Amino acid sequence: MKIYNTLTRKKEEFVPIVPGEVKMYVCGPTVYNFFHIGNGRTFIIFDTVRRYLEYRGYKVKFIQNFTDIDDKMINKANSEGITVKELGDKYIKEYYQDADALQIERATVNPRATEYIGDIIKFVDDLIKAGFAYEVDGDVYFSTKKFKTYGKLAGQNLEDLQAGARINIDERKNDPMDFAVWKAQKPGEPAWESPWGLGRPGWHIECSCMAKKILGDTIDIHAGGMDLKFPHHENEIAQSEAVTGKPFANYWMHAAFVNVDNKKMSKSLNNFFTAREILEEYDSDAIRFLMLSGHYRIQINFTKELLDSAKASIERLYNCINNLENLISEVKIKDISEDEKLYLKSLDKYRDKFIEKMDDDFNTADAISVLFDLSKDINNNINIDSSKELCEGAVELIRELGMSLGILQKHQEKNLETEIQELIDKRQQARKDRDFALADKIRDDLKARNIILEDTPQGVRWKKVD
Ligand code: AMP
Ligand code: ZN
Repeated sequence: MKIYNTLTRKKEEFVPIVPGEVKMYVCGPTVYNFFHIGNGRTFIIFDTVRRYLEYRGYKVKFIQNFTDIDDKMINKANSEGITVKELGDKYIKEYYQDADALQIERATVNPRATEYIGDIIKFVDDLIKAGFAYEVDGDVYFSTKKFKTYGKLAGQNLEDLQAGARINIDERKNDPMDFAVWKAQKPGEPAWESPWGLGRPGWHIECSCMAKKILGDTIDIHAGGMDLKFPHHENEIAQSEAVTGKPFANYWMHAAFVNVDNKKMSKSLNNFFTAREILEEYDSDAIRFLMLSGHYRIQINFTKELLDSAKASIERLYNCINNLENLISEVKIKDISEDEKLYLKSLDKYRDKFIEKMDDDFNTADAISVLFDLSKDINNNINIDSSKELCEGAVELIRELGMSLGILQKHQEKNLETEIQELIDKRQQARKDRDFALADKIRDDLKARNIILEDTPQGVRWKKVD
């Protein structure tokens, strides 16, 4: 499997530190608001990376943090008249609601920065002791000059970065590129006791500290949106490697932006759609399909028209699945024939192709094309004369591949008639088995839905009452 590594600017063979295991850290949201569909793309992409790694047999430890203390959190909490903690609690809950709806699997751990303050203080202290950080009036800064390879992720040396930076005259810093790892308390701000007085952590230090604490000194994959490459990830590398003397992450992955009219979707430009509002109109399949139909390192422009066409495309794949599932209950032949066995085996080539595409730096765009090829093949070759076993094998294959992208897992809604008839049959069986508790439960559950069962000499009838 190959991954494009931002650090080396090359596609590299993926070799995890421990065979069969992947330690992965993704920078998560600042929880001061609902997340927008741009953030959503980044979350969906790395959820897909994780799902695919799991599909390929890796055991993945997947960490995604919540930034629950920073200027934006403090300002928003003040304007709402609630505490920063209350604000964080509220939007973490909202995050889970939307992420779940987008079929984003829950992380192994979602650490909150404020729950690691003690570890962060120790980290800052270690940086000072090792000579990489210095204190000025209760603030602590990282000394970029001391870290010889500063700029390696950005692909620029310190001088170039200094020249490119806005001149930020801050007499208290030794160098304009130095950044805060600890910030002294300003009036009205939440703060924690530290050796440098009351204060709070800088943003970059949280990720360095929590990644180390949960995953260890060196991790396999560190990921986030493209905007985090510099300075956030550069600074994470500097802090972590300064403290441990070991490589921080072996592979760095960055997801390209979702744009609106060619500008990055962002809260500050006010050109965003929240995931919540999009989810009111579209389901996760359409949204994930749109986000995955382009390669993750290519920006996408977000429009409702594109989302509508993603919805139409995914429906074509569902037509194939639904058709197969209808055939499963309709076909006359149960067991697979020898010819059908050969045919089913021939479909393995689509799995191989899918894996080949995904193994090439998670080329979801081409992997999705393979799904269409597979569905076309199935539509042309499986029909009412096929066996049930063949239909089942085909549907399993589509769902298996879809699973690794977090799509195509929905089941068609049964119509009411079929569903009730199935429940009636189940109740009759329960009665035959003298399982009267189950039989009564089925009748009561239906009653709660205003459906009354009547035993007649012709069998069980049902009617809906108001
Ligand atoms: P934030 O809450 O702004 O820290 O962002 C959470 C994640 O979303 C980070 O990994 C960002 O890099 C990513 N992100 C922010 N804006 C966009 C965008 N327009 N498109 C894609 N990813 C984004
Ligand atoms: Zn981070």
